[in-house]
Amino acid sequence: MSDYAFFQATKIFKRAVPLMVKYKVPTTPHYFSLWYTYCAGTHQQLNDAVDDTVKRFGSCSPAQCDSLIESYLLDDAKREVDNFRKKLESLVADMGQSIDTTVSDTQAFQTILNSSVNRLEDVESHADISGEGQVVLQDLLKGSRHLLEATTQYQLQVTTQKTEIDSLKSQLQEYEKQATHDALTGTLNRRAFDKQLNVFLLEKSELCLVMVDIDHFKAFNDEFGHQMGDQVLKIVAQRIEKSVEDNGMLYRYGGEEFSVLLPKMSLRGAFQIAEKVRKSLERLSVTDKRSGQKINSITASFGIAERSIGEEGSQFIARADEALYDAKHRGRNRVMPMVR
Ligand code: GH3
Ligand code: MG
Ligand code: MG
Repeated sequence: MSDYAFFQATKIFKRAVPLMVKYKVPTTPHYFSLWYTYCAGTHQQLNDAVDDTVKRFGSCSPAQCDSLIESYLLDDAKREVDNFRKKLESLVADMGQSIDTTVSDTQAFQTILNSSVNRLEDVESHADISGEGQVVLQDLLKGSRHLLEATTQYQLQVTTQKTEIDSLKSQLQEYEKQATHDALTGTLNRRAFDKQLNVFLLEKSELCLVMVDIDHFKAFNDEFGHQMGDQVLKIVAQRIEKSVEDNGMLYRYGGEEFSVLLPKMSLRGAFQIAEKVRKSLERLSVTDKRSGQKINSITASFGIAERSIGEEGSQFIARADEALYDAKHRGRNRVMPMVR
């Protein structure tokens, strides 16, 4: 390392550590990699996401750091794994197909062979063949029995391989799902959101974004416990999904925040859908198993923005956030469109 590089690294180090202390991030090498990259400023998307998290939550919990590392720093490694997975997938699909063909071909061959052996046995026991003819017949019968046995063994092997390939296929599908879905609620995750938003922004058609944030969720956790909170997050996700139907896609944006992308939808249409979601959450009633108490105080606030042509994704999100902030400010449990 040159003196200059060493000097730079030290400078970054001196900035990263106090930030980690400030946000109560454990100073382990794992988390340090995130904050070092942040302070080095070499990964703009990561810096935007860290700034956004700190702005939103006022802190950056280890869980949030994990998610940021996963989304941004493991990207290159993930891309390689993705490429490898894709190759493996097509290989597995090809193999599965050729094995299917082999299994059915072998089965057909086995049936023919089986009936030939039976007929040869029949001929051997009934026909009056002697001398050279009998020797040839016996050799043929012996060879056919041997072949039949080998074919049966082969088929067994191929069937086992097919089972292994099928399980490999479902494992690959599972990995695919984990990369784009949130483990707790089963909805699409932030990574999937970023990807889909970029795709939509390339198109020129109408698009609305709804940011949903559960009201006073910290107090909810404090009163009913984190497990109950997790339960509510799952139910809330289901309710939103049900009200949005096929009009758009739901994502867990982070913590107790969800986002909904509504393509080909006007602000008015998006408002109606958000209202429908809001009312369905307001009607939600869950029972606290510990106390048997009925909880029907769950509400959420909503901010909507309609995309302006040429607008950056981050600006679009910021406008929906601004509307959400407005909804919170005006007393929560309401939908605010950003008219601008
Ligand atoms: P506001 O109405 O202003 O949104 O208030 P709030 O309490 O919902 O907002 P704040 O940002 O202060 O707190 C968010 C809370 O959400 C704190 C955190 O414990 C909780 N939370 C975030 N993710 C999860 C999770 O995965 N499970 C549970 N149970 N709680 C979570
Ligand atoms: Mg929040
Ligand atoms: Mg909240």
